[in-house]
Amino acid sequence: MILPGKTIGVLGGGQLGRMFAHAAERLGYRVHIYEPEANGPAGEVSALETNRPYTDVDALTTFARSVDVVTYEFENIPAEPLWKIENLVPLHPLSSVLEICQNRMREKTWLRKNGFPHVAFAEVEAADDLASAIRRIGLPCVVKTADFGYDGKGQIKVSDDASLAKAVASFAKQRCVIEKFIDFKCELSVLVARSSTGEVKVFPVAENIHTKHILDFSIVPARLSEAVRVDAEKLALAIVEKLNVVGLLAIEMFLTDRGEILVNELAPRPHNSGHWTLDACVTSQFEQHVRAVCGLPLGDVSVVAPVVMVNILGDAWKWSDGKLVGEANWSAILSEPRAKLHLYGKKEPRIGRKMGHFTVTAPTADAALEAARVIKARL
Ligand code: ADP
Ligand code: MG
Repeated sequence: MILPGKTIGVLGGGQLGRMFAHAAERLGYRVHIYEPEANGPAGEVSALETNRPYTDVDALTTFARSVDVVTYEFENIPAEPLWKIENLVPLHPLSSVLEICQNRMREKTWLRKNGFPHVAFAEVEAADDLASAIRRIGLPCVVKTADFGYDGKGQIKVSDDASLAKAVASFAKQRCVIEKFIDFKCELSVLVARSSTGEVKVFPVAENIHTKHILDFSIVPARLSEAVRVDAEKLALAIVEKLNVVGLLAIEMFLTDRGEILVNELAPRPHNSGHWTLDACVTSQFEQHVRAVCGLPLGDVSVVAPVVMVNILGDAWKWSDGKLVGEANWSAILSEPRAKLHLYGKKEPRIGRKMGHFTVTAPTADAALEAARVIKARL
């Protein structure tokens, strides 16, 4: 057990690291952020920060020797330097987990090999002809690069000749996966925490609405039948055990019209669709992550009140002809007594960039969603 007072090292310095640092420091830990770029969201709220590239093995070694445990908040970290860290200090989740989850091809192959339900996919190697692979799968489909995808980046939905040409222009000569476009009933996510002691807790299932491939709303409790809820939780538990995750694992899923659950993505870290836990769960995902990687008993995951979380993108600021001309209307959130504003301290808003989020609680999930839509429209 790594007790409060010790230092937790975090690879990555974005908003997930910032909220993790808040939770860790509240419990009495010191947080040391390792992040290539200076002045990020996590560094400014943490006791210590190192700004060096992920490939700088000497700097990573010094960092690893100075902390008691290491975790990460970001997937696109080269796995090789992590092997080095792993020999010096406990790393949770293991680099083998990160290697699988950071690459769509490996992730999907792992799901298939282990018999977990997933979206059917075809693999395209860099040398293959992307256009003929797309035609073989059939339209509509989604082409995704194997590496470095997030928030809809590195993927294009192909539904006609024009989008096919666009996908080929963007992704030819890269390793890709092609998935059938799933006309899902809704998207779900399940967050599971597994402690270094083996204790496991599943957060209540969230229902997620994405807009332009970016998470827009998370709704909890998800408006699902009990049977689907139980299936989603069982699946999540089986995956976290099979992957041997210590820490948090977020599992994104599609629910089809036939009631079938398909795994879309795995993320071995806190997740955007778990931000609601900060304001409406007995234990936040960030505190649970601290507890899991430090081997503390896990906290209760009961929902305190139905809640909706809404992402705040740079789009909420005032723009004119592509130029930033003003702040978002923060009073839309601040004047609603049940809404909570979270901003990540990013210096520069950009269209499509996650700048913060807000939550709103209400007596029912539908009422929370209605209130959230009203606030979002005024923002
Ligand atoms: P990332 O979150 O890493 O950008 P995802 O694969 O989760 O990538 O895709 C983002 C979103 O795009 C999904 O949550 C979903 O809304 C949509 N999407 C992705 N793949 C498909 C698919 N095969 N069928 C339908 N929608 C998809
Ligand atoms: Mg996703």
